[in-house]
Amino acid sequence: SLTDLSLARMPDEIAPLVGAFNNLLARVRNAFATQRRFVQDAAHELRTPMAAIGLQIENLRAHVPAGEATDRFNQLEAGVTRAQHLIEQLLSLSRQDAPQRAMAREAIDIEVLLRESVSQLMVLADARRVDVGFEGSITPVVSAPAPELRSVFDNLIDNALRYAPEGGVVDVRLHEAEGHAVVDVLDNGPGIPESAMGRVFDRFFRVPGAAAGGSGLGLAIARTAAERNGMRIELRNRDDGPGLMARVHLPPLPG
Ligand code: ADP
Repeated sequence: SLTDLSLARMPDEIAPLVGAFNNLLARVRNAFATQRRFVQDAAHELRTPMAAIGLQIENLRAHVPAGEATDRFNQLEAGVTRAQHLIEQLLSLSRQDAPQRAMAREAIDIEVLLRESVSQLMVLADARRVDVGFEGSITPVVSAPAPELRSVFDNLIDNALRYAPEGGVVDVRLHEAEGHAVVDVLDNGPGIPESAMGRVFDRFFRVPGAAAGGSGLGLAIARTAAERNGMRIELRNRDDGPGLMARVHLPPLPG
């Protein structure tokens, strides 16, 4: 990363250049900070009205006889859910970008965390009639801030559930591979074209033609959170059929 150059002991010709450079750097930093705050404030302001719209739709639905309007209501609700998802992703992202004191670490039982993550996402699984399985043959404990670990696994499992076909299958497996603990999240969706593998972690990048409903931010958020905690995410298309395998390499256990 860039650091300020010291003005001390510089030849006279260079000093003004260095001054100008430091000045520019400060402006760029400021611009980023302003942009981050803007995104954070905007997302935060959108939260409440979006929740209100969701409630209004629910109320209206209760007053309109079922039938022709059902499809429209479903579409409206899907739209609100999508907007709410995007708002939450933007908030996560701007929180990650904020200069921060390191969050408190705690000893986290990965199996417990994964089970919580899966059960929280059951609403989505049920809506898409996706069958979710969990298998764990080890019980690793990782020292990390819980919200960061949740953001890694929630995003990967959420993706698996959204890209699996209706009535599809998602498996979460906690086991040992390549000599260390890993978490695999498998789905039976379309996978990711090899040509796009290098870009799926970029902010806002979505594979052309990917199923609707995403923001292109989930993997970027997951990767930052993983790397901050000594973990690595690897994506591979499955070789035993269609679908993606997202593998999280857990840090070696202390001791
Ligand atoms: P999104 O909100 O669009 O899912 P992500 O950052 O989580 O954003 O993912 C980026 C892109 O990577 C997605 O738009 C999709 O094209 C692709 N992708 C991510 N996960 C999967 C998956 N499990 N199966 C197929 N494609 C995926």
